[in-house]
Amino acid sequence: MGASALDDHDVIIIGAGLTGIYQLYRARELGLDVTVLEAADGLGGTWYHNRYPGCRFDSESYTYGYSFSKELLDEWHWTEHFSPQPENLKYLDHVADKFDLRRHMQFGCKVRAARYDEDARTWSVEVEDGRTLRCRFLVTAVGILSTPTMPRVDGIDRFQGPWFHTYDWPHDGVDLTGKRVAVIGTGATAVQLIPVIAESVSELFVFQRHPNWCAPLHNGQITEEEMADIRARYDEIFERCRKTPGGFIHMPDRRKPAEVPEAERYAFYEELYRSSGFRIWQGNFRDVLMDDAANEEFSAFVADKIRERVKDPVTAETLVPKDHGFGTRRVPMETRYYEAYNRDNVHLVDLNDTPIERVTEAGVLTSDRDYEVDVIVYATGFDAVTGAFDRIEFTGVGGRTLREKWADGPVTYLGLLSAGFPNLIMLAGPQSGSGFTNFGRGVEEGVDWTTGLLRYLQEHGCTSIDTTEEAERQWVGHVEDMYDLLLVSKVKSWFTGYNSNVEGHDHFRPVAYNGGAPKYRKRLAEVAERGYEGFVLA
Ligand code: NAP
Repeated sequence: MGASALDDHDVIIIGAGLTGIYQLYRARELGLDVTVLEAADGLGGTWYHNRYPGCRFDSESYTYGYSFSKELLDEWHWTEHFSPQPENLKYLDHVADKFDLRRHMQFGCKVRAARYDEDARTWSVEVEDGRTLRCRFLVTAVGILSTPTMPRVDGIDRFQGPWFHTYDWPHDGVDLTGKRVAVIGTGATAVQLIPVIAESVSELFVFQRHPNWCAPLHNGQITEEEMADIRARYDEIFERCRKTPGGFIHMPDRRKPAEVPEAERYAFYEELYRSSGFRIWQGNFRDVLMDDAANEEFSAFVADKIRERVKDPVTAETLVPKDHGFGTRRVPMETRYYEAYNRDNVHLVDLNDTPIERVTEAGVLTSDRDYEVDVIVYATGFDAVTGAFDRIEFTGVGGRTLREKWADGPVTYLGLLSAGFPNLIMLAGPQSGSGFTNFGRGVEEGVDWTTGLLRYLQEHGCTSIDTTEEAERQWVGHVEDMYDLLLVSKVKSWFTGYNSNVEGHDHFRPVAYNGGAPKYRKRLAEVAERGYEGFVLA
C-alpha cells in the first residue's frame, strides 16, 4: 500500500502478545473490523523476543494460559510446571492458528505515531513503513516489559565480539560453548540465564550492582496423569486465582507473624523455601510485605539460605541484599542460581567496589581491571511500564502529547484511559490491575471488561470515550495510597518507576497498581454498573 493510502478499521490493536491476541479474539466476536499491528515479525510479544537460555514462566503454567476456551484447555498439555519460552511461544502460535487470528495481524508494523482527529473522532496511526491507518478505537497491548534498556556507559558499540540485550537474544541462537562471557545485571532475567550458561562457557563474569532476593523455583515435568488432574481441576484453579491478590494460586497468610510461635514460624519459612513458584513471596505472611519487623526476620532467614548455598563466604555476602528486604522488589525465581557461584569458572564482580568505567573493544573495563571476554550479554532490564508508550508519539486533544502529559509519571483513570486522549484504550497499562498480577489472569479479565465496554459503546452508538481529570486525580490518589501500604514503596525498582538508564526516571513514579486483583475487579464492575462512571461518553 502506498504512503498516502488510508486504511480504516473499527479497532486497531497495537501489539500481538498475550494481551493483543485475546483482545483480537474478543473484538472480532463483536463483529468489529479489527487489525493488530505488531512491530516484530511474529506474534507472542514477551515470548517472541526473550529467547535467552533458561527463559521460562514463573507463574504455574496452568495458571498463566488462557481460560476462555474449554477446548483449548482440554487439548493443551503443559510439559513443565513452569513452562520454558519455546513452549510458551508454541502455545500462543497454536492459539492464533486454532482461532484463525493470524489473518487479522500485520507483522513488521512498527507504530511511529498516532494522532487523534477531534472532528472525525478517529485515530490516525502512522506506521514506520510510511502507511497511515485510521480507526475509531485505538487499543494498546504493548506490554509492560517490552522496551529494553542498555546501561549508560561508553564504548558499548566498540566491543568487537557479539553483544546483545537478553530481550534481543539472537533468534538463530548463539553458541557460548567454551566462550568467555560477561553478563551485566542480576535481575530476574540474569538469574534464569546464569546457571544455564555457566555449564558450557569457559569463563563467566557476572557484573552485579545490587543483588536481589532470589528463591528456588522448584520446577518439574508434568506427566500425562498430572495434566489430566489439572484439566479436571481447571475451574477450581482459576477460581482460586481470582481470590488471591496476585492472581496466582498462592494466598497470603493473614496471621500476624508475632502471634505465631517462633518454632512454628520457622517451620513455615522452611516449608515456603521448599515450595515451588511464588508461594514464598505471594503465599508468605502478608506482613512480610508490609511490616518492617516481619520483613527483617524473613529476609534474615533467606540470607542464611544464601550463605548455606554459596561456599565462598565473601561471594555469599556479596549476594545478600543489604539495601532492601525480601519481596520488596520482584523476586527472581531460580534454579541452582546460587550454586553457579560455586563453580570455578563463574566470577562475581561487585560493581559497588569496582564500577564499570567503559566497554572496550575487548571487554569490560572496571576501575580495577580489564575483563577480556568474547561475548557481552546485557541483562539490564526495561524502560518498564511506560517505555513502550513513550516510544510512540501519541497526540491527543489540542495537540498535547502523552509523553508531555506523563513526563513525571503516568496519569490514568483505572489504568485504562488518560484524559485528553479519547478513544485510546490501554490494556494492562500503567496503573492497571490487569498488568500487575499473574499476567495471564489479569489480562484476560482486563480484556473481558474492555470488550464489555466496546459492546456498550456499540449498542449506544457512542463514537467517543474519554475520562476527566477529576476521575484521574482520584484514581492516581488511590494508586499512591496502595503503594503506601507496602514496603515496596520504599525501594527503588521498576515497580516504583526507577531506571538509572532512562533520563528522568530517578524519582518515584506510580506505575503499578498494588491493590490486588479482587479490589481492581470490584472497582471495574462498579464502574460498569454505574453506566461507566468517570468516563465521558459521546
Ligand atoms: P531488572 O530486574 O530491571 O534487572 C536489571 C539488572 O540490570 C539489575 O540487576 C540492575 O542493577 C542491572 N543494571 C541495570 N543497569 C545497569 C548498569 N548501568 N550497570 C550495571 N548493572 C545495571 O530486569 P530483568 O532482570 O530483565 O527483569 C525485569 C522484569 O522482567 C522482572 O522483574 C520480571 O517482572 C520480568 N521477568 C519475568 C520473568 C518470568 O516471568 N519468568 C523472567 C525474567 C524477567 P540494579 O539492581 O542496581 O538496578
